[in-house]
This record gives sequence, structure tokens and C-alpha cells, in this order.
Amino acid sequence: MTDPLLDSRHRPLRDLRISVTDRCNFRCIYCMPKSTFDHNYRFLPKGEILSYEEIVRLARLFVAQGVTKIRLTGGEPLVRRDIEHLIEQLAPLPGIEISLTTNGSLLAGRARSLRSAGLHRVTVSLDAIDETVFARMNDVDFPVAEVLAGIDAAASAGLAPIKVNAVIKRGVNDGEIIAMARHFRGSGHVLRFIEYMDAGNANHWRMDDVVPATEILRRINSEWPLEAVDANYPGEVAERWRYRDGGGEVGIIASVSHAFCADCTRLRLATDGRIYTCLFASQGTDLRALLRSGASDAELTQAITGIWQARDDRYSELRAKGIAVVKKIEMSYIGG
Ligand code: SAM
Ligand code: SF4
Ligand code: SF4
Repeated sequence: MTDPLLDSRHRPLRDLRISVTDRCNFRCIYCMPKSTFDHNYRFLPKGEILSYEEIVRLARLFVAQGVTKIRLTGGEPLVRRDIEHLIEQLAPLPGIEISLTTNGSLLAGRARSLRSAGLHRVTVSLDAIDETVFARMNDVDFPVAEVLAGIDAAASAGLAPIKVNAVIKRGVNDGEIIAMARHFRGSGHVLRFIEYMDAGNANHWRMDDVVPATEILRRINSEWPLEAVDANYPGEVAERWRYRDGGGEVGIIASVSHAFCADCTRLRLATDGRIYTCLFASQGTDLRALLRSGASDAELTQAITGIWQARDDRYSELRAKGIAVVKKIEMSYIGG
């Protein structure tokens, strides 16, 4: 066993998030607001997007450097054609868990083929149970029932337990916290509330819009008492809580109020082949140019190890100290 690849803060490289498309069929107000992502917005043209062959080649090199988890994301990964074909090629990589984050809109019809292709886990984003509130969040009037059908289909296909992510924006869907908790209690799926983050610039994030984890927990705890559960593994982003009455678990991703940079082992491969060492990075490194210039595996590996070894990112920690980055990459492109 070779020594793990460490960054400048001694964090190993473990997770690779691959954004397979910058496009999406939703316009969530906190991610791809219509004011920016309208018909004039220039999405990446096909030639600038990594092909599946290119993604698989890079993924293999990342796995050789210690990556054990690959998450496919976007944009909406299920709008990219034949994502099953990519999963089939990633699945044989040694010791890898493959998961996918989706808005669930296309999941009901695809859950079986995704599972057969080799997908291990799915995370479904759903920000409300109430139809009107959900419509305000996704901004395309997408029905809640279809996302719930996607969750059911994924569970029947063998992808359970499913993680359900809910981003909470004050004044828009914070009134849904209890209803969401009630819906998923006892379902076997794990609902995770996410603090609204200052990812990208398009969403015009303000601290006042964030409902801190402590407040979310207080509200749930007053309805159904909770107790803390130990993390599944070091560096787990969601803090785990259990309903004392046996109703299962709920999680909180407190990326704003409780920075977890010290354990961050994530690297992001954006749709166009740029590598980002932090969700809040303002610059990436172009691996596509290197790939397409005919670089050997050894040369690509050298680039990858150099990027990780030089990594010093800890954006959330710095934000907590009042130091902020002005220009950040949009979440739909870098991959959430
Ligand atoms: N389209 C897929 C989806 O929505 O699940 C995958 C991509 S999306 C960018 C990945 C995750 O990032 C989703 O759970 C989404 O809710 C979350 N997200 C996007 N913008 C966010 C923000 N500003 N703050 C917190 N979470 C955000
Ligand atoms: Fe699309 Fe996901 Fe962003 Fe919503 S959060 S706009 S579903 S990429
Ligand atoms: Fe990792 Fe950057 Fe998030 Fe910190 S802010 S946890 S370094 S992605």
C-alpha cells in the first residue's frame, strides 16, 4: 500500500465529484435563478464537455491516487444522455462506491437502469412537501409527487436507504421543516437539511436568508426529541441525529455555521474538465487541455498529484472569520 496523497493541510484525497452537465430542467432560486440562467445564458457547447471516455480515463487515475467515492452530479446528471453508460464503465474501478445526486424529476423511469448499470447510492434533492412552496423553490412548477415517485422507484430498485437533501431558505421554505421531517420519519430514508450556502454569485446570497443548523434542530427537537449519533466515518459532512422515539435519523449539513474544512477530502471535476479543489474556488486547473494534447497517464497523474499537494483551501473556515472570496464558480457547473 502506497502512502496516501495528502494536501498541504494533511488531508487525503478520497472523494471525486464529477459534474456531467451544466444544464438542468429546474431553476432552483438558490442555484440557477432565472435572472441569470435564462435563454441568453451560454451553457457549455458539446465540444467543451468531457466525453464519457475522458471522464473514465481521469477517474481511473484519481482512483489510483486514493479516491474511493465517486459522486455524479451537475447540473442535473439525469439530463445527460445515457448516463448509465458512464456508470457501467466506472463501476469496475477497484474499491469504488458510485453515487448520484439528482433532483429526482427523471428518477422514476430510470432507477432500475441506473441500479443495473452499477450505481450504489442516490441522493435526491427535495426542498418542500407542499406543492406551492416546492414550486417557489424549483421555479418550474415541478410536482412534488413525481419526485416522491422517483424516491420510491429508487428504493424498489435496491438503492435504499436514500438520502433526501433539503436546502432551507428563510422566508421561502423554512415553514416546511416540520412537514418534511414528518413525511420522512419512519420511512427508512434519511432527510438532511442543508444550510443555504453562498455558492456562486447568481443567487445573491445573504446571511439573513440562512436558517442555521441550531435553529433547524431546535424546531425538530421541540416536535420530536432528538439525540446525537456518531459520524459513520471521519469527514462525514452531515451531522447525524436520531429521533428518540425510534422514528429514524435526520441529518444537518451546516456548511455555513459549522465549517468542516479540516476534514474535507473532496475534489471536483467540472463539466469542461477543470479541476477545483474547493466548492468555493474562483479558479480551476484545465485537465481537458492536457488530456486532448495527448498527455500520457504519467503526465496526467503528475498534474493531479501536484494540484492536490498544493491544495490549501478552507473557504468555510475563512468565511467564519469574515474573509470572503468575491468571484466564485456557479454550483451547477462545478457540481454540488
Ligand atoms: N441537480 C441535482 C440536484 O439538485 O440534486 C444535482 C446538482 S445540485 C447543484 C447538488 C446539491 O446542491 C443539491 O442537493 C442542491 O440542493 C444543492 N445546492 C445547490 N445550490 C445550493 C446552495 N446555494 N446552498 C446549499 N445547497 C445548494
Ligand atoms: Fe438544478 Fe440541482 Fe441546481 Fe436545482 S439544485 S437548479 S435541480 S442543479
Ligand atoms: Fe471543502 Fe472548500 Fe467546503 Fe471547506 S469550503 S469543506 S475546503 S469544499
